[in-house]
Amino acid sequence: MKYKRVLLKLRGESLMGAKQFGIDNDVIAQYADEIKKLCDKKVEVAIVIGGGNIFRGVQAENGGMDRTQGDYMGMLATMINSMALQAALDKLGLYTRLQSAIEMKEIAEPFIKRRAVRHLEKGRVVIFGAGTGSPYFTTDSAAALRAIEIDADVILKGTRVDGIYTADPEKDKSATRFDNISFDEAYKRGLNVMDMTAFTLCKENDLPIIVFDMNKKGNLLKVVEGEKIGTLVSA
Ligand code: UDP
Repeated sequence: MKYKRVLLKLRGESLMGAKQFGIDNDVIAQYADEIKKLCDKKVEVAIVIGGGNIFRGVQAENGGMDRTQGDYMGMLATMINSMALQAALDKLGLYTRLQSAIEMKEIAEPFIKRRAVRHLEKGRVVIFGAGTGSPYFTTDSAAALRAIEIDADVILKGTRVDGIYTADPEKDKSATRFDNISFDEAYKRGLNVMDMTAFTLCKENDLPIIVFDMNKKGNLLKVVEGEKIGTLVSA
């Protein structure tokens, strides 16, 4: 196993599957299956999920709502997704803990780094909900922050494309994929790996990121085993 402790970042939108909004139960069950494969191999797994399938702060702002209010609504959306994934993991018999950056003691533990690490050491999957707990951030930044705090070996950014391309492969057919790229090169080329706050956090703390296709069965485990899948961004 190449990586022992990983932080998996999933986009809220990926949970929609073919739907226009919300959560597709088949998608979440499939993701849970993929995650279980890691647990079966004793990989320590922490997860951050976005909330874009339910709510984004910028949407609210465009509609005339205060941005901060919208961002908190977005953070609550991540909690809904986190709870859905937790339920799917529980169903497979995995041990899970949900930690929230905003206190919600009836449904989640507060985020406590030492406790999170202890859970991981005991083989529990830890989901970090409510992003960073602060407006004007994204769940990519939350993923970077939590990964650094818990000393993860890598951030695994699950997407619907199989890595980072020279241009958007859905628009430009001549785009080619990178197997590896340095933080500096990705920055110079203006490639959209994660938002800039998250990207900078990873770069400054020497935390590699792998962008890969989460929808392809078996990919997640292969990435963790060190197979050359997706794009590795590192120093
Ligand atoms: N959000 C926030 N602070 C955070 C994380 C998230 O304010 O630390 C809000 C923000 O409004 C964001 C929304 O929650 O738009 C949903 O998260 P995100 O857009 O990162 O979800 P994803 O794109 O991964 O689905």
